[in-house]
Amino acid sequence: MIARFRIQEATGLNLSDAVSLLEDLIDLEVRNIVERERFMQTRKRALFLPHCSRKFMDGRCKAVFDANLPSYVCAHCSSDCLVNKAVCVAEKKGYDVYIVPGGSCIPKILRTGNYEGAVGVACGEEIKLSGGFLKDTGLAGQAVPLLKNGCSNTVFNINNLAKTL
Ligand code: SF4
Ligand code: SF4
Repeated sequence: MIARFRIQEATGLNLSDAVSLLEDLIDLEVRNIVERERFMQTRKRALFLPHCSRKFMDGRCKAVFDANLPSYVCAHCSSDCLVNKAVCVAEKKGYDVYIVPGGSCIPKILRTGNYEGAVGVACGEEIKLSGGFLKDTGLAGQAVPLLKNGCSNTVFNINNLAKTL
């Protein structure tokens, strides 16, 4: 499959890392399918977006970090910013949206928000960590993987996210 879909060419990964990536994606998809029905029955939901998908990672991003949430609050400064687009789509659907610098912010948000369901966009490693926490809380979750990792200028599929929401 790695050769057929040219995963190494697309990602620049060596064979062993490409195999791990593929395994993570399959694992994630299986968990999404298993959780889907329970997730669809939830009403109060949160969306977690990674700060690394913002158009800018420096002062050009006008989002303000609110330590009480804890989350960045998007100021919608760039119409072509992926995070901006995701915030708009999710808020229209009634989600509370959090743009987090790391998975360690998520437990506090879930504890204080009384959420029934959560959707997370992140790289495979972060999804694994947060998935463990979600399991402990009993919340129904769905995950959308980053298609380009690297902790800055990361990318996810906005259509896939909209469908998941
Ligand atoms: S649109 Fe929002 S997240 Fe994107 S760069 Fe501007 S303030 Fe930051
Ligand atoms: S790539 Fe993963 S670990 Fe790095 S900032 Fe984004 S979500 Fe966090």
